[in-house]
Amino acid sequence: MKAILLKDFGGPEQLVLREIPVPQVGPDDVLVRVESAGICHHDLLHRAGKLPGAPAGVILGHEVSGEIVQTGSSVTALTVGDRIVGYQRRFCGTCRDCLRGRQDLCRSLSLPAIDTEGAYAEYIRLPAISAIRIPDNVPYPEAALASCPIGTAMRALVSQAGIQAGDTVLVNGASGGLGVHQVQIAKALGAHVIAITGSERKVGFLRELGAGTVLVSDGQYSRDVWAATAKQGVDIAMENLGFTLPQTLRCMGMGGRVVVLGNVSPADVAVSPGLLIGRRIRVQGSGSATLDEVRQSLAMISSGIVRPQIDRILPFPEASRAHALLESRQVDGRIILSGW
Ligand SMILES: [Zn+2]
Ligand SMILES: [Zn+2]
Repeated sequence: MKAILLKDFGGPEQLVLREIPVPQVGPDDVLVRVESAGICHHDLLHRAGKLPGAPAGVILGHEVSGEIVQTGSSVTALTVGDRIVGYQRRFCGTCRDCLRGRQDLCRSLSLPAIDTEGAYAEYIRLPAISAIRIPDNVPYPEAALASCPIGTAMRALVSQAGIQAGDTVLVNGASGGLGVHQVQIAKALGAHVIAITGSERKVGFLRELGAGTVLVSDGQYSRDVWAATAKQGVDIAMENLGFTLPQTLRCMGMGGRVVVLGNVSPADVAVSPGLLIGRRIRVQGSGSATLDEVRQSLAMISSGIVRPQIDRILPFPEASRAHALLESRQVDGRIILSGW
């Protein structure tokens, strides 16, 4: 089969087309013909050698949708022809966290294992427990976003922050892969959304997605948020950037919840304990989603509540160009690889 191999750590040119054997399925696996693969910021970090423990010489990609073409001898819940998305990480299915539905916490198979046999290929082998059926009315490219960007947004807003109708929700990095979906989900659940973007060009786009207030800022936005909320602050904040956490904390109202789920330029930041105590702020880290949250994401796409934001679809052999485009930050939403 054809696959895009990460030859060595480095620039986009390290992604090369290779012919490799089709994976052999074990008794509990399914073989999936890949229809769409999303390109995640995580893939860029892996390619550049900035992801601890992630090896070179592998196939990247964990945002995958496709059709089952073969099932292992023990697989009963899925059949050939099923349209599925893959859960974005390997999980064991038997540990304490998996059994209570928190596959996102499973430690037994470590972090980016799936990238060693990833989605930038004609076929991918998946454990059957990782395959989630796609509703009939959801096309493959849209479905490919359900697991990573949309599921992660759902987990942060619903399960971690406990969003309620009437809440005011701040979303920074709002035009990024997480932000564009958080804005839509928060709006759909009855929140007033304050979207922060670095680009004047994105204002209309964010309003269309459902943001009630859009602020253009280079990172110093707390004063504007304070003014926009009549000095009440926000109930919930989606911290998608990391380095802006001190600004975001200053935007919080009494009893506010901050969910930190992005760290675009990793470095420590200063946090004021007095501010946390004074405003009773809860700060929570979050990442990825549970299997059930991926199912919920597919249902939200199917019902039209969330429109997956896709910048463009490129054929797999253009993976290098796709990585370069994403790095140039000239894209609105995901780039999807599809077709050879
Ligand atoms: Zn991802
Ligand atoms: Zn587990």
